[in-house]
Amino acid sequence: MKTALEFIYVTRAGSKQIDYVHSSALHEAGHAVLSVVLRRELLRVSIDRDADGDGISEHIPDVSSKRAVVEEIAIMLAGGEAASLWGFVTNTDDDEARALCAIRRELSAPNPEETREQIRACVSEGVQSLKEPICLFALELFKQRTLGGPLAASLIRGVVVGPTSLEQCLASLGF
Ligand SMILES: [Zn+2]
Repeated sequence: MKTALEFIYVTRAGSKQIDYVHSSALHEAGHAVLSVVLRRELLRVSIDRDADGDGISEHIPDVSSKRAVVEEIAIMLAGGEAASLWGFVTNTDDDEARALCAIRRELSAPNPEETREQIRACVSEGVQSLKEPICLFALELFKQRTLGGPLAASLIRGVVVGPTSLEQCLASLGF
């Protein structure tokens, strides 16, 4: 456990390039770990960049209820929140825009920005409690670069210990 964290910090100080890849792995790990914790089916997680320079964490979305939509938004916000646990600032423009769009369209919340911040508060607490699993999964992702859904999900289930308060926090928002 300690080695994993030290590895990240040493690399961060040593090389800008590797630092960037690590922050990307932590970002995608945030999306992926929350997807699994919220019982979504993961399809693929990758830190190989697309045309926009982004990695990806893909899952089968559930928008069957407002509560499920709130969970989807939590997954969208989890990338940036996870990377920020280690002081990394990652590109969250897409995630933030998609979250706001879903809040407007699916939740019809009167104040979308406020709702987004309420969801973010739950996510921030959630990734904090999942810091070690996120780190361990990010290290594996960094090594493999791309993981298929079933393998990624089983790796995450292997490092997440016990229930989190995330679902309770999201439920308390009252959607
Ligand atoms: Zn993201």
